[in-house]
Amino acid sequence: ERVLGWDAERTDESSFVAALHDSDQQRWRTIVDFLMEDSDGEMVAEWQVRHADGSWRFLQSIVTNLIHEPSIGGLVLNSRDVTDQKTLEDQLRHQAFHDQLTGLANRALFAEHLDQALRRQSRMGGGLAVLFIDLDEFKTVNDLHGHTLGDELLKQAAERLRTTLRTADAIARIGGGDEFAAIFEGVGPGLDASAAERVIESFAQPFLIESSEVFVTASMGMALNDSGTESAEDLMRNADLAMYAAKTANKGRYEVFSTNMHSTILDRMQMELDLRHALDQSEFEAYYQPIVTLPAGTIVGAEALIRWNHPQRGLVMPGEFIGVAESSGMIVQIGAWILHHACQEFEVLTRGVAGGQNLGLSVNLSTRQLSDPLLIDTVCGALANSGLEARRLTLEITESAIMEDVPNTFRVLTELRSFGVKIAIDDFGTGYSSLSLLSEIPVDTLKIDQSFVTSVAKRPEPGRLIRAIQSLANDFGLRTVAEGVEDLDQLEALEGLECQAAQGFYFARPQPATQLAELLERDTSNSVVATP
Ligand code: C2E
Ligand code: MG
Ligand code: MG
Repeated sequence: ERVLGWDAERTDESSFVAALHDSDQQRWRTIVDFLMEDSDGEMVAEWQVRHADGSWRFLQSIVTNLIHEPSIGGLVLNSRDVTDQKTLEDQLRHQAFHDQLTGLANRALFAEHLDQALRRQSRMGGGLAVLFIDLDEFKTVNDLHGHTLGDELLKQAAERLRTTLRTADAIARIGGGDEFAAIFEGVGPGLDASAAERVIESFAQPFLIESSEVFVTASMGMALNDSGTESAEDLMRNADLAMYAAKTANKGRYEVFSTNMHSTILDRMQMELDLRHALDQSEFEAYYQPIVTLPAGTIVGAEALIRWNHPQRGLVMPGEFIGVAESSGMIVQIGAWILHHACQEFEVLTRGVAGGQNLGLSVNLSTRQLSDPLLIDTVCGALANSGLEARRLTLEITESAIMEDVPNTFRVLTELRSFGVKIAIDDFGTGYSSLSLLSEIPVDTLKIDQSFVTSVAKRPEPGRLIRAIQSLANDFGLRTVAEGVEDLDQLEALEGLECQAAQGFYFARPQPATQLAELLERDTSNSVVATP
């Protein structure tokens, strides 16, 4: 009566059996059969019994045969209610195999599902695909909006995956971050990647988080097991590699794993790993390339260009690693390092030089840094720490980086200029920016791309283009610097085109700070103010 809410008066044996869960009926019969054979027998069983209110209770019963006991003459069940214990066990089991935040399967359960799927495949054939999904820029959202909102985003993303990937045979959140995975069984050869496309489509809609719209894209990698020969580990690794390829190629897309992907990606991954250590191990160095006035050839400043002294590979040029640093997000830390380091080193270096306080320093910024909410703090910090005057610092941004998010760039550049820092558009002429934008974007200098300079002495068109850029610059009150001047012919052509400044191997190569210091000391006439 207490445990099951039954009316004690009306309970008989038949009603107990009737109250047993269907799945326990067979067990009851087995136990009765067994105990009838063994007159001194005793057995323990756990089963579900219906409560008078219709709910199910778990009972643990010791069943004893007391048929030979005259005062009893039957089977005795000594039972206790273990429902709470059972529920807790279930919860624990669920917790062990599910992600608390999203309710999706976790990595352990996913691995289990994949093993089973592979076993089914080897019995019945058919294709099998593993899809890895990683949210792009999740870390930025988390840093920018805090963990609570980050969690909310993960929940909503999981929900979106659940709806979009209805055809998946398992979906999981693997790892503690923004990585998800799905299994598709029985897919045809060369699986149509519609699942991945649906995910991309569904992520095109913004997430509504605390009444603000957040856009997040997902990068995906897919690994197929057409041949049925891959192991679970292989499939997971291949899907991961394909996802990595998708991320580095261009976020918000998917790649299907192929074997030749392997070595390229491993190289890239190795570089990414090495880059992570490079900052701690002080493997970066700033080289400086002088910028000179035309026609006098007086040094008015220098551009800091990063170099990586790799322990095995030797000197690595930025062209080889800036891309990896960008796609992995490490450019933000590396960019902050070069800013701090170059400001400091350049300030100290020019202190000992006559007129050195007028020499300008240029530092390159990457696209990614422009969207870093801490960029302004980083720049101010670098100036404050080094004591370099803001008017001496120019930040170089490529034309294509500016075009990526014009409103944001506009805001950031305006703020940077408000405390005296100057802005140059790097590689100008290659980025297809609309010229009308030039009148609005807050800049000081145009750096005429090397490709124009290289051919200026050979063909007439580059000269005409440079002249057009020059007159544009004059109209908007901008200074020009011609990049990559390698010989006297080019220099003379440029002088005829009225460029104000130039930079190139013809004048000096990028060089370590100590060498630049020697060069500056020899160049006694560098007392010209660095800026127009
Ligand atoms: P950039 O900012 O346009 O820098 C000019 C590049 O042209 C430098 O290559 C420089 O060494 C090279 N150069 C200068 N004069 C000549 C010349 O007369 N002939 C030739 N052929 N090349 C010349 P570097 O140092 O390899 O840098 C390549 C690019 O990497 C830079 O182009 C810049 O976009 C990026 N980069 C370099 N340092 C940094 C950095 O600290 N941060 C970021 N975000 N990007 C950087
Ligand atoms: Mg530059
Ligand atoms: Mg350039």
